Amino acid sequence: MSLPDLGADCRRCAGLCCFALAFDRSELFAYDKPAGSSCRHLSADNRCTIHARRVAQGMAGCIGYDCLGAGQRVTTELFPGVESRGAPEIARRMADAFRQLREVHRLIELLSAAQALDLSPRQCSACGGFLAELTPADGWSEAGLQDFAAGPLPDEVARFLTSPRPRIARRAASA
Ligand code: SF4
Repeated sequence: MSLPDLGADCRRCAGLCCFALAFDRSELFAYDKPAGSSCRHLSADNRCTIHARRVAQGMAGCIGYDCLGAGQRVTTELFPGVESRGAPEIARRMADAFRQLREVHRLIELLSAAQALDLSPRQCSACGGFLAELTPADGWSEAGLQDFAAGPLPDEVARFLTSPRPRIARRAASA
C-alpha cells in the first residue's frame, strides 16, 4: 500500500479550492462566495490574481487552507486534460470529487499520525485496514468517491480516531 502525497501542488491543479468551496464574508474573506462558483480573483488560467496580496485584499482565509494534495489528484488523475471552463456539468463533477477526495486525504493524514502511536495490535490492524480502504490499488474514480462519501467508512474512521490513543493523534494533527 502506498500512501498519496498529501502536499498540495497548485501548479498541477485547476484552482479547484477556489471554485468548489464556499466562504462567508468575514474578517477572513472579503465577500460571500457559494460553493461551485469561481472566486472573483481566479484568472482564466486558474491562478490567483491577488496571491501576494490576499491579506491586504481581505482574503486571509485562503492562506490557511490546505487541500492535502486532493486538488492535483482530481485534476490529473480523475479528469486528466479535461477543461471545465464553460462546462458547468464537468465543473460540478470535479468540485464534488475534490471535496470527497480531500476528505479521503484528511482521514489518511489522521490515520497516519495515529499509526505512529503505541497502538494495541487490534488498533494497529484497524488502522491499517482503514488506510488500505482509503488507498485503493486502482486509485479513486468518481463512483468510488461517491460510494465513499455515502458509505459507512467516514463514520467508522471517525469513531476509531476518537478511541483513546488515536484521539491524541487527531489532536496533534489538527494543532
Ligand atoms: S483569493 Fe485567490 S486563493 Fe483565495 S479563493 Fe480567490 S483565487 Fe483562490
